[in-house]
Parts: sequence; structure tokens; C-alpha cells
Amino acid sequence: MPVSESDGIFTDAIGRLDRAAEFAAIDSEALEKLKHPKAILEVSIPVRMDDGSLRVFRGYRVRYDCTRGPTKGGIRFHPQVSLGEVKALAFWMTCKCAVVGIPFGGGKGGVVVDPKQLSRMELERLSRGFVDEMADFIGPNTDIPAPDVYTNAMIMGWMMDEYGKIHRQRTPAMITGKPIPLGGSLGRDDATGRGAYYCIKELERIRNWKPANVRVAVQGFGNAGQHVARLLYDDGYRVVATSDSRGGVYREEGLDIPRAIQLKKEGQAVGAVYSSRSVCDCLKCGSADCNCSRHDSATGEVISNEALLELDVDVLIPAALENQITQDNADRVKAPVIIEVANGPTTSQADEILTAKGTLVVPDILANAGGVTVSYFEWVQNLAGYYWTVEEVHERLQKIMAREFNAIYEFMNDKGIDMRTAAYAQALDRISEAIEAQGTSVYFAADRTNSNHSAGKPGHTRSYP
Ligand code: GLU
Repeated sequence: MPVSESDGIFTDAIGRLDRAAEFAAIDSEALEKLKHPKAILEVSIPVRMDDGSLRVFRGYRVRYDCTRGPTKGGIRFHPQVSLGEVKALAFWMTCKCAVVGIPFGGGKGGVVVDPKQLSRMELERLSRGFVDEMADFIGPNTDIPAPDVYTNAMIMGWMMDEYGKIHRQRTPAMITGKPIPLGGSLGRDDATGRGAYYCIKELERIRNWKPANVRVAVQGFGNAGQHVARLLYDDGYRVVATSDSRGGVYREEGLDIPRAIQLKKEGQAVGAVYSSRSVCDCLKCGSADCNCSRHDSATGEVISNEALLELDVDVLIPAALENQITQDNADRVKAPVIIEVANGPTTSQADEILTAKGTLVVPDILANAGGVTVSYFEWVQNLAGYYWTVEEVHERLQKIMAREFNAIYEFMNDKGIDMRTAAYAQALDRISEAIEAQGTSVYFAADRTNSNHSAGKPGHTRSYP
């Protein structure tokens, strides 16, 4: 099915399971179970608009698999949200939580809306309305939302407050990515970008990189893209290009990332909670037809999002939306290393092209797992009622990211496979252990040592008592 069809993205996503299963110890029943979401809730959210009219928005929440723990994953507000997309995102969350070994299953939510068109009050009513419709579906031990594309800490705070009103109980652990005064964790704001940065630091060590010689392009200047760009910039990497939904900017000598972040933040006063400034406005070109007054070290040449993906750089970081690298442009992608900070930026057809030409793709389910890992830390702190320092958060995140990155990198090299397949194999191993512990045909088989396990990993010995 082509990926443009609403469910196509989900079909494409689960299509990767069979290949990974060849390298994992997973029973065919467990594998089959993972091809289907556990539960889906589709709701209509009526919202009173500022002009007195009523608009009804469509919302979804998918609980994909809860074998390893409560389902976990963000809520996206975007005009292109579809059920197929939310299912794919929930599936990726299931694998992501398993990849980093945190005790969660996967879930995701979405609302079909262009939130930039809403006022702050309308956005608040929509956020609270989402929780009103979902109040019995989500909860601290069942399904725990978080921010995703175009949702943020403020929205999480409103949602927690609404949930507390409905249940007459303050329940910070029902959602993560909250504002700090409402029980958020220090270090959650930049956690997705930071997790990717820790992966890059491992590559830097393995490949002996000198940051000043490494040219990086970051597609997307949202929460994840901004932070990974800033952390790399602070380490002396040359971030030569970045972009947002309105276009991109390129500068061979490297961009002034702190300045772009600052100017984007200043643009936040307008509208609801989103910046009215594009990254191009912030780091504008010095071309003849440009009215920009900032022709200094921050300036660069305006490029399109598509052109950014094809730049001659050392590291490409897609940090925007899914389906960016496809069979149509994969052969023109020059970067030898891709760090997937967005969810699902590469289609499976593009993957084949990239693998064939030897591109190292650090897959989304590993590279962007820093966000949900610190969400896990937030949940733990909420349940314990005891809060950590930002240094503790960073240290624990670094340990997890480095440990899982190296395990997957090593498995990739051992098996001669791509890093995505290696990451999925690791996820499948962990998920299947949990599924089988609950009881599958393998568990009940008379001769349990003679199961239909492929047991792909060398030295993998699973014993059944
Ligand atoms: N939306 C983020 C992701 O896709 C974070 C999810 C979470 O923290 O639960 O990984």
C-alpha cells in the first residue's frame, strides 16, 4: 500500500517487524500480536470558539501494547493527524520503550487541528476537551500521555488539571512533560534532543570525529531539533543548515544557533503559544531581494526543506515529521550518517536504498528515545513524590542512551545488518519475553526447549522452567 494512504504509514511501519524477527528470539504468536493495536478510541471534541461559535474536532488515542507496562506516548495537534498515523506512532512508542528498557508499552494520541489558528483560550478548551473525552481511557497506571508535535508543557499542565477535576484527585503521574511547578521533571524539555546528542557522542567516540570538521544539517526547529542543534553547536559542531515548516537556511561556515533559538522565542508573544517567526526570519539571507537587516554572522542562504535533506553534510538530522526520506529522494541524500530525531522520517523503501549505499541510519526508536526516557523519570518522581536534580536526570539519561546505543551498534556489526533492524530485534526480544511470560503457545508447549524460536542472538539462552 502506498504510504500516502491513511493507513499506509502503519502498514509500512509494522512491515519492519518480520525482517527484525529473523534476528530476535520471538515466537510467531507474539509477533502476530504485535501487528495489531490493543485498543483505539476515536472522539469528537466540541470546543466553544472565542466568537461564540462551536467547532467539533476529531481526536484519537491508540493504546498499542501494554505487556511491558502502561502505554506511553505523546499527543500531537496537527492538521494532518490521521488514525493510521496515530497507530504507527503508537507502534513506534511500543518499540521505543522496549529499546531503552523502560517499563512501558506504547501509545499515542492526536487531534486533527491547526493549533496555530487557535487563540490561547481556544487551545486550552480543546486540550481540556480532549481529556474530558479520554478520561476513562488514560491514567497513571494505564495510559500516560506526553507532548508531541505542537503540544507542550503548558498543554500538559491544562490536561493534568482537567484530569484532576474529573477524578477529584491530583494525579501528576497521569501525564508527563508538565511544567516544573506542576510536577514536571527537570531536564524533560530538552530530553529528546539530548538523547540524540548522547547517541552522536557515542559515534564521535567510535569514529574519532573532530566536531569542528563535522557538518550537520537539522531538518526541523521545534523542541527536538532546536535542542540537538544547540547541544552540538555548544560542542563545536558546524551546524550548517536548519529549517522549519516555512523553509530552511544554509551557511557553509555554520549557523548561529543560540541566536536563532532566541529570536524564535521572542516571536512567541504572538498568537497562542507558538512562535510566529520562522527560522528563516531569524537567520535570514543576505541576497539582493532580502529586506533583512541582520547581515552579520547569523545570516545564511535560504533553502527549501527538500534541498536541506540533500545537502552535502556529514550528519543529517531529520527532526520534523514522518515520510521525509522516501524512494523519491533517498538516492540523492548525501549524508553518510542520519540521526532520526523525528518519528518515522524514513520510509522502508528509502531504507533499502540507504542501506544499499552504506548510510548509517540511527533509527528513531533509539535516537529520539531520550524524550520518553525522561518522561519515565518524571513518572517515577511523581509516584515517589521526590524530585531529582537536573544533573541526576542528565547522568541517568546518558547512561541509558550510551548503553543501548552501544549494544545495538555491536549487534548490527556482529550480524552485518542495518542499525534499524538491530534496534527492532532488541525491542522484539524484550517485548516477546514479556508476552511469553504472560502465556503463549510456547509457554504451554509440552517440550518447551523445542519451540519455534529463531533465537537470532548469539549466546541467547532463554530457559523455560
Ligand atoms: N512524543 C515523544 C515521542 O515520540 C515523547 C513521548 C513521551 O514522553 O511519552 O517519543
